[in-house]
Amino acid sequence: MQNIKNMKLWYPYAQMKTKEENFHVESAKGTKIKIKGGNELIDGVASWWCACHGYSNHELNMAAMEQMEKFSHVMLGGLTHDPAKDLAELLVDITPEGLNHVFFSDSGSVGVEVSLKMAIQYFHNKGYEKKSKFVGLKNAYHGDTFKAMEVGDDPDFHGAFSKVFKDAYHIDPPRRGYDVTETEVEEDIAKLEEVLAEKHDEIAAFIVEPLIQAAGGFNFYSPRYLERAREVCDKYDVLLIFDEVATGFGRTGKLFAVNHTNIVPDIMILGKALTGGYLGHAATVASTKVFEAFYSDDPEHAFMHGPTYMGNPITCAVALKSFEIFKRDNYLERIAKIERYLVERFEEIESDLIDSKRVFGVTGVVEVKDSKDLKGFQKFAYDRGVWLRPFGNYMYTMPPYIVEEDEMGRIVDVMKEWFDQRKN
Ligand code: PMP
Repeated sequence: MQNIKNMKLWYPYAQMKTKEENFHVESAKGTKIKIKGGNELIDGVASWWCACHGYSNHELNMAAMEQMEKFSHVMLGGLTHDPAKDLAELLVDITPEGLNHVFFSDSGSVGVEVSLKMAIQYFHNKGYEKKSKFVGLKNAYHGDTFKAMEVGDDPDFHGAFSKVFKDAYHIDPPRRGYDVTETEVEEDIAKLEEVLAEKHDEIAAFIVEPLIQAAGGFNFYSPRYLERAREVCDKYDVLLIFDEVATGFGRTGKLFAVNHTNIVPDIMILGKALTGGYLGHAATVASTKVFEAFYSDDPEHAFMHGPTYMGNPITCAVALKSFEIFKRDNYLERIAKIERYLVERFEEIESDLIDSKRVFGVTGVVEVKDSKDLKGFQKFAYDRGVWLRPFGNYMYTMPPYIVEEDEMGRIVDVMKEWFDQRKN
């Protein structure tokens, strides 16, 4: 056993007593991660939905450098600057019509907190004091800060804290599948309607990860559910919040998951790939309807929130450059190509151990019946020069969008080989 005193770096989501030391990165460039004294790995997970351009991209490096040479962080209290203003303008341009006001923060979790605070205060400012609770989906994940944990629903992540959660209801998530029948959608949406019909006078918002419940099990579901959720929320005067921290910037095959629908949420949160995976930042983008409830002569109607690093100029400069590359290099075409490739090659992965397989945009998931059947897979992939990191029953890949076909091929080969070796 290691000496506790030597364990100075406390890793996330890990029992420090039993875990092995993490693989130690020496350098990372493009799609490759080089392990100190070890293998060079093709990155199959893009640092969890964020490193969409891969690592150490020269243009992003220069965008950060150039901004740092002009000025480093200045707080958005009393001061403003082009990078923050330009990024706000860009986000208003590229998000659906009606989302017009951008509040920056420093991580996805805080971006979610901001959206929840906005929802409560929206009703407070309008005189509906009681509307301060939330509805979320079972198996949802919205981050690790308190209210984000509460609207999420993941006992593995948040079990010790559930005793202090009291303001969120969780309904069954919609069934899996992009193409479902109207009757199925109605059955699923009835669960939302049931809660809102009874509790709408105390509910401020319904929050969802649109189309992909990410950390809660890669549940891919139908845009129709979201369209119907919009109608039900409107009927009961409940705000609709889309947490696009994971799905934003191309993961689902369109720029945002919301672009698969014909609706606009009241608030949308972006994070992760917003900065091309470079720096922690999030944007909570609100509709004019929401913003107007804060826009008043009453100082108490102001939104009292302001993370020190919100709108950090270096971060904003990198985010602007990241989107420029996304557009210029036709990432949506690349994404469509990767999706087609994944769909085709996943056909070849077969085993009795598998419960189901699914691909959506640049995310491919193999779900096994028993999580024990993935034990040792990370090391197996490492030995074959691929970085994959299963959790629970899920073996998955969500590579950077710059991944080449032969690299994608290596990733899928390793997944397939794992199951082939387990056949009798
Ligand atoms: N929302 C979703 C959907 C996420 O997947 C995550 C992170 N995995 C978060 C919020 C929290 O983001 P962060 O880790 O940047 O706080």
